[in-house]
Amino acid sequence: MMNETKVSMIALSVDDREVLVPAGTTILDACKAAGVRIPTLCHLEGVCSNSSCGVCVVEVDGAKSLLRSCIQPAAAGMKVHSSGARVMRARRTVVELLLANHPDDCLSCLRNGTCELQSIAELMGVRRKAFPRTKKQGKLDAIGWGVVRDNDKCILCGRCVAVCKELQSVSAIDFAGRGIRSRIAPFLDKPLSESSCVSCGQCTVVCPTGALTERDETDEVFAAINDPSLTVIVQTAPAIRASLGEALGMPPGSLVTGQMAAALRRLGFDKVFDTQFSADLTIMEEGSELLSRLANKGTLPMITSCSPGWINFIETFYPELLPHLSTCKSPQQMFGSLAKSWWAQKMGVDPAKLVVVSIMPCTAKKVEAKRPEMRGAWEWWKDKGRSDAPFFDVDFALTTRELARMVRRAGIDFEALANEAFDDPLGASTGAATIFAATGGGMEAALRTAYEIATGKPLPSLELEVVRGFDGIREASLDVGGTQLRVAVAHTLKNARAILDDIVAGTSPYAFVEVMSCPGGCLGGGGQPVAPDWKKREKRRSAIYTEDRGLELRKSHENPAIQALYTEFLKKPLGHESHLLLHTHYASRTV
Ligand code: SF4
Ligand code: SF4
Ligand code: SF4
Repeated sequence: MMNETKVSMIALSVDDREVLVPAGTTILDACKAAGVRIPTLCHLEGVCSNSSCGVCVVEVDGAKSLLRSCIQPAAAGMKVHSSGARVMRARRTVVELLLANHPDDCLSCLRNGTCELQSIAELMGVRRKAFPRTKKQGKLDAIGWGVVRDNDKCILCGRCVAVCKELQSVSAIDFAGRGIRSRIAPFLDKPLSESSCVSCGQCTVVCPTGALTERDETDEVFAAINDPSLTVIVQTAPAIRASLGEALGMPPGSLVTGQMAAALRRLGFDKVFDTQFSADLTIMEEGSELLSRLANKGTLPMITSCSPGWINFIETFYPELLPHLSTCKSPQQMFGSLAKSWWAQKMGVDPAKLVVVSIMPCTAKKVEAKRPEMRGAWEWWKDKGRSDAPFFDVDFALTTRELARMVRRAGIDFEALANEAFDDPLGASTGAATIFAATGGGMEAALRTAYEIATGKPLPSLELEVVRGFDGIREASLDVGGTQLRVAVAHTLKNARAILDDIVAGTSPYAFVEVMSCPGGCLGGGGQPVAPDWKKREKRRSAIYTEDRGLELRKSHENPAIQALYTEFLKKPLGHESHLLLHTHYASRTV
């Protein structure tokens, strides 16, 4: 029988209503339990509670000063008042002081409409600048491809610092300076792109303001669509179908696969394809690579390579472990190189006039698309005698948030759209590709195929519950044709670090490891709707598995378009064309 820890409960009153909460609960959470929402700009459940903003103050009978509810524990018999005149005056003054040093840029700010500072200012009834500016204007850091930092909009809440350190164990940014010179900065005030930042974008989803955002490329994509000399095609990552609706105001977890395809067509893309096609292809190549490493005593554990923030991380912090990475490009890049080689040739499209746009859950995808080695199709055509100026396989990687902005700008009534299908052949996929969006999904998809290839029999159950869920590290053991295969799944870079440390120490028991940079996997990516929490991530996850269960084909090797691709062009996994177009190499990054 399991030991049950008894949690003692305490009673207190919030605005004269009694509430019962576990001992140790903060006043902020006790108020939440009483149905009272206290505003805050710095608190982030489970990650950041540094009480820096001071917006969450409440009055407590017997206390001389107002208390910051996010760090103050509730006590039995406490009488809390959440919205008296003194509290409201204090909160308003805090916001007015923040606005004194804040630019009046709302109309042109990427966070206009989703900015927490803007909402709180409105909530507090702030209608004018009450105090003069005391700080010098902050610096704009817009050098890198992934994340843009506008320190003038920073309110020093510390959420980005906490997420970067606690969730990702990267610590690329920290508080610097004192007093009016306080700022958030990478080491030595260098640009983010010259720091240890891995471009995961997690800081952009938690930043309450427009101080940290993705590099917006929507203007460039609209311009390409409107250029009649170009063919512009689009691919959408598995996670976008479970988050685009949310970014457009629908409830979290809304599954909008068909409406998304319809909206992309309305935006003017010439073909609407699906990154899930190349996720299925990744499984064919990656599964074959694993079986080959197992048979030939190759470097184990093999670690997945789909998540570019993760690739940046291992290249920066564990370069000695690079041989463990699968050589497979990510599905985004496999798609781009195939589209500009095989598909362009098949369709008679000039690859130099073909623009590939990706819709991705992640800011690291923008950086990945600009890696110099991601010009597989250009190299392929060069071998065939063409002499184009170098071009990338993927031209623009937009986040979910950018696509939502494009849909709004084009005046598309998204919710009223009828479902449409993706175009063939690069739009065909299976349920195995859909679950790539979730942590553990790539592993589950790989095992569905690798098990069947190795044993000649399908997995006894397609629902591999053991690798699902949000525990930081999950492991499983599977009998694959007489060989016991031990596998592990990790999400967030902090959890990945634990697995890597075991590999360095020579104590890792695994043959195959999946790592995704972001909490929950791509569904919690740094390009997804802002202000995420575990409830929203769970809803997105549930939508993904619902889609998988509803599909007729749920194993990558059953995708008929993938089978045709191998028959017609690639011939076999890990073959000559695959190596040219679908595989890559990695390099140590020094900062
Ligand atoms: S960060 Fe918020 S308050 Fe500041 S300019 Fe942008 S939208 Fe306005
Ligand atoms: S993008 Fe990721 S690694 Fe870079 S500063 Fe933000 S949280 Fe840290
Ligand atoms: S950059 Fe954003 S998250 Fe970081 S401290 Fe400033 S306002 Fe907060």
